[in-house]
Amino acid sequence: MTTDELREQLTFQVKNGYTQITPEQRREMAAYAKRYAAFMDACKTEREATAWAVAAAEAKGFQPMTPGKPLKAGDKVYLNNRGKSIFLAVIGSAPLEEGINLCAAHIDSPRLDLKPTPLYEDTEIAYFKTNYYGGVKKYQWPTIPLALHGVVCRKDGSVVTVSVGEDPEDPVLFITDLLIHLAREQMQKSLAEGVAAEQLNVLLGTEPLEGEGADLVKLHVLKILNEKYGITEADFRSAELTMVPAGKCREVGLDRSLLGAYGHDDRVCAYAALEPILNLEHPTHTAMCVLADKEEIGSVGISGMQSRAFDTFVADLCDSLGADPGHVLANSFCLSSDVANAFDPSFPDACDRRNTSYVNYGVAIMKYTGRGGKSGASDASAEALGHVRRVLDQAGVLWQINTIGRVDLGGGGTVAGFMANRNIVTVDAGVPLLCMHAPMELISKLDAYMMMKASLAIYEAF
Ligand code: MN
Ligand code: MN
Repeated sequence: MTTDELREQLTFQVKNGYTQITPEQRREMAAYAKRYAAFMDACKTEREATAWAVAAAEAKGFQPMTPGKPLKAGDKVYLNNRGKSIFLAVIGSAPLEEGINLCAAHIDSPRLDLKPTPLYEDTEIAYFKTNYYGGVKKYQWPTIPLALHGVVCRKDGSVVTVSVGEDPEDPVLFITDLLIHLAREQMQKSLAEGVAAEQLNVLLGTEPLEGEGADLVKLHVLKILNEKYGITEADFRSAELTMVPAGKCREVGLDRSLLGAYGHDDRVCAYAALEPILNLEHPTHTAMCVLADKEEIGSVGISGMQSRAFDTFVADLCDSLGADPGHVLANSFCLSSDVANAFDPSFPDACDRRNTSYVNYGVAIMKYTGRGGKSGASDASAEALGHVRRVLDQAGVLWQINTIGRVDLGGGGTVAGFMANRNIVTVDAGVPLLCMHAPMELISKLDAYMMMKASLAIYEAF
């Protein structure tokens, strides 16, 4: 046998997805990118994504889960977990104890939350104080247009939704930075310290109300908020308000091959998990889509993946179908769908080139995440990876293997460990992403499309 023949038989090399997709797939990919971009424009917070998912699910015949109500194959149910996370299931024809095919993504993204007492006036300028949420490079957030999103629970218990900065007629909000001419001292600082958390103050206004007394600019801001939302300063104490980058998802590159948006992490995987389950009819095994909150701060809290809300939903499914939750979970499979670090040629040293994912090479499968010596990783088994490999190959999904950067440089986690801790076989997979956690992140249309195909393949696996 020649070395060429041996090479053909024995070696393996992933290929750029553009060399492999069909013209038909290109058309599907372009259409999918448009639907995904529309979702991104409508959903910048976990609440907005949950509300979107509920409306889309109800339009497709999903019904709220009713504990105790019998279910049968083909039924579609969901649980809206307090408006901040959602579980959707389509009941399969096989017994539930044969397991559930899950895709679990998260719908929260790094951002600047308002502090509980946010509003103040300094030197006749009104500001919000913020507390960053998740991992951010603080220096990236000044001097970009920002929008205010969230809800306020008023004194009478009524909840009002706030949105400023997304409508083209709206003003945007803004965090200032120091002029370069006077920045010699700032420029000596590290990137971590150049902009401090307590400098991430959002400029709200400069025009004082006519009249006497202190803080007339702040009073003006309160008057505007009160006229629009019926809220007062006391209501900030029972609010969830957050600053996110203003603006829409945009095509990036002269060839339009990429999409730039705030919060691809992890709504690119969330949408990829959601769309196929909305259209899923009569799966063999029960399929479930999980869209979780709080992943960026450790999956904690009532709406995070560690919450018992998930276990209660599974227990309710088991009640309605006559199955034991422990056995159901033990036979289930979860694709922990979260974005991956794509190789960036401008920062080549951050990755091991032989063990990283590349833009346009398809879904990035990760055996483990974590940091250092795999600390914090759920580290999927060979058999679990073998299952994913077979399912994706059979469905014609393009995929590649990824590790989370150069060992000892940093690291990260996903919801995978929390699913695996429940005795669910779990593998990490996601869309390769450039500039993860930046105000605008980049993904390729091809990879996003393949992630949707991967989710569908997992739901239909048996
Ligand atoms: Mn993520
Ligand atoms: Mn993240």
